[in-house]
Amino acid sequence: MLERISRFLKKNLKSKPDATHYIFGPSEHSLTPAMINRNARSIVDVLQKAGFEAYVVGGCVRDLLLDLEPKDFDVATSARPWEVKSLFRRSRIIGRRFQIVHVQFGREIIEVTTFRSNDEESSNKNHRQQTDSGMLTRDNVFGSVIEDASRRDLTVNALYYDPSDNTIHDFTHGLDDIDDSIIRIIGDPATRFREDPVRMLRVARFAAKLGFQIESATATPMRHRAADLRQISAPRLFDETLKLFMTGNAVATFQLLLEHKLFDYIVPQLAPMLNDQNGIPLKLITQAFTNTDIRIQSDQRVAPAFIYAALLWPVVQKLAKTYEKNGNSPPYALSKAAGEVTARQIEVTAIPKRFTIPMREIWDLQQHMLRRGGNRVQRLMEHPRFRAAYDFVLLREQSGENLDGLGAWWTAYQSADEQSQEKMAEETSATSGNYKRSRRRRNSKRQTTDSE
Ligand code: ATP
Ligand code: MG
Repeated sequence: MLERISRFLKKNLKSKPDATHYIFGPSEHSLTPAMINRNARSIVDVLQKAGFEAYVVGGCVRDLLLDLEPKDFDVATSARPWEVKSLFRRSRIIGRRFQIVHVQFGREIIEVTTFRSNDEESSNKNHRQQTDSGMLTRDNVFGSVIEDASRRDLTVNALYYDPSDNTIHDFTHGLDDIDDSIIRIIGDPATRFREDPVRMLRVARFAAKLGFQIESATATPMRHRAADLRQISAPRLFDETLKLFMTGNAVATFQLLLEHKLFDYIVPQLAPMLNDQNGIPLKLITQAFTNTDIRIQSDQRVAPAFIYAALLWPVVQKLAKTYEKNGNSPPYALSKAAGEVTARQIEVTAIPKRFTIPMREIWDLQQHMLRRGGNRVQRLMEHPRFRAAYDFVLLREQSGENLDGLGAWWTAYQSADEQSQEKMAEETSATSGNYKRSRRRRNSKRQTTDSE
């Protein structure tokens, strides 16, 4: 925005001749120092008084400019980690891949990061490591603020705010992109995605969160580089999936992941089942994410176990059906399918045991909830996963699965008085889907454990 540029400084840098340093003064943006977290402001102040450059940076500047509430406030500085540490009594250096300093104020922790460079020429074996395919594994080459801006992922994430004089420092036209609602990767998109394929997921996540358009030069290579996501470690990819699906914009993010062919590398077993636009799997996942977004908006808890239960259910159900056709009992078929599908998924996204266990309980209860007779019903309701399993039944029905009024039955049962509950249980006892207990059941007991 030309009218906004009052001061225009061009710094000729050896390594980045095209990097331009724009400084936007107080009248040219909507931020004020009072919007910045007090502790972050005080860190910047201490660092600047000690002679270092320091800014508030990243997501919080972006969010404040867009009237959103920042999740946290990060500080970037020319001071080295040990210099930062020496200035703040309650601070410690953490991380190996990226060394950062955590400065503690009461219960709050502010992250202070030293300016880093992504520059090939200054790379040094000890500080920066890359795999043969170009992926960064270690990244601790310190640099100038301009170099720090160019190694960040998106232009809208690379704005530096100086609360001491209320200026925004922009090296990548990030402020223009915020004004124009554009998500743009910094530098050559294909190279940046090769360096760190997770950036493709970040593009989708921020485009969804902010409602921005992905600029075409950023979008084009995503499809071709999507398979690079296979190189991402399963624990990191699991963490990323939580950010994709549990931060209130799951539906929009999911649509972008499908559009840009990224979803295939997140839940590979499910992806082919989503091609049918009218199929139940696509409806189930979209509905699960719609419900998740609504819950987050109303400050309700969302559980990773429930989300993964939905993501893998169509796959588990399909596989269980084939095992049933081969003569296995429904409980055994389900348990075997669940074990196999879970094992394959955790190779991609390392879902921790504390989530796979409740996830499998939700699936398991789907069968138990079909059988509503006798005193089983009361016992089921006392199961710690009953509520989630009941919600899951409702979700399946919402997405078009015909469960013969199962959800409505459980809804009515829960609100009925004791006498009516007994009557309901008696009535359904004779009719509800009791499977035959046969030799197969003994089989299932013996074999279910090996599919864990
Ligand atoms: P959020 O609101 O989700 O915290 P954020 O922009 O602060 O958004 P973080 O994941 O906290 O995102 O990362 C902080 C900053 O670090 C980002 O703004 C971005 O500049 C930079 N960054 C994070 N991940 C990457 C990456 N994979 N590649 C390059 N830069 C990154
Ligand atoms: Mg952040």
